[in-house]
Amino acid sequence: MRIGVPRALLYYNYRPALEYLAGEDVAEIIVSSATNKLKLEQGLALCDDEVCLPVKVLMGHVQSLLGDVDALFLPRIISLEKKRYLCPKFLGLPDMVRAGLGRKTPLISPAINVGWSRLRQLREGIKSLGSMSGQPLKLWRALDRAARVQEQHRRQLAAALDMPVRRKRVAVLGHAYNIFDEYLNFGILNKLSALGVEPVTVENFRREHINQGASGLSKDLFWSYGREVVGAALYCLHSKVVDGVILVASFGCGPDSLITEIIGRRFSAAAIPLMSIILDEHSSGIGLATRVEAFVDMLNWRDMA
Ligand code: SF4
Repeated sequence: MRIGVPRALLYYNYRPALEYLAGEDVAEIIVSSATNKLKLEQGLALCDDEVCLPVKVLMGHVQSLLGDVDALFLPRIISLEKKRYLCPKFLGLPDMVRAGLGRKTPLISPAINVGWSRLRQLREGIKSLGSMSGQPLKLWRALDRAARVQEQHRRQLAAALDMPVRRKRVAVLGHAYNIFDEYLNFGILNKLSALGVEPVTVENFRREHINQGASGLSKDLFWSYGREVVGAALYCLHSKVVDGVILVASFGCGPDSLITEIIGRRFSAAAIPLMSIILDEHSSGIGLATRVEAFVDMLNWRDMA
């Protein structure tokens, strides 16, 4: 069976696990190709204006897979850590896709909620496969191994901030789907590297760093990914592990509006410079490159002052 995985949203967070599963004998996994103009335009045509940019992009990726796959993997994600949640778009994603693209291609949409028992999670997973669940135990074991691969990858990335650095280091903070989709962000990480700066992302912060940063909030944020971004930014503020912070947010994203405001206020009198970038379908690569260059120039001038 060919199972389509859109290269969008949480694909970027779980790429190591998905790549591991693709090499296992459980199903043929087909990942859509990189975001491009056509996918973005198709996503825009399928969504209302008020939908956030990353979901529009996901719709374009789903559209590109239809016809080439027997089913689409689109989990209904409620929670990935206890007492914290993902934004409601993740909960309603399978319904949005069905409403926009019809029911011809079956969806594999396990509801994922770590607040449930392991048994209930397994039951939900098997139920989501329906008549396609041939060997649930084999699949469960493969998922378990994939989870270990994912965890190992996470630990490797989280060690990056401990490495000594001779260049300027800038934290580029935002949702992984904004930071690692080069079409959406015009290759901001490569741009910084080309300017002689080492970019680090949320994934390079240890959990204890993020918790330490987030502990400075008067009230805990219950959005998992938003809390990670705020925690990493506030950790930078106090630990001085980076020379500057670039915050990348999506147009049309409620959680991003809030975290941009929280971080902006905390950085207003800080010694570390902050630049906010909001991505939307009208963003210009030239405009973004100019802002990034000016930001790096400013970091270099500060040394001379
Ligand atoms: S967190 Fe923001 S960008 Fe991500 S899916 Fe929700 S609304 Fe969209």
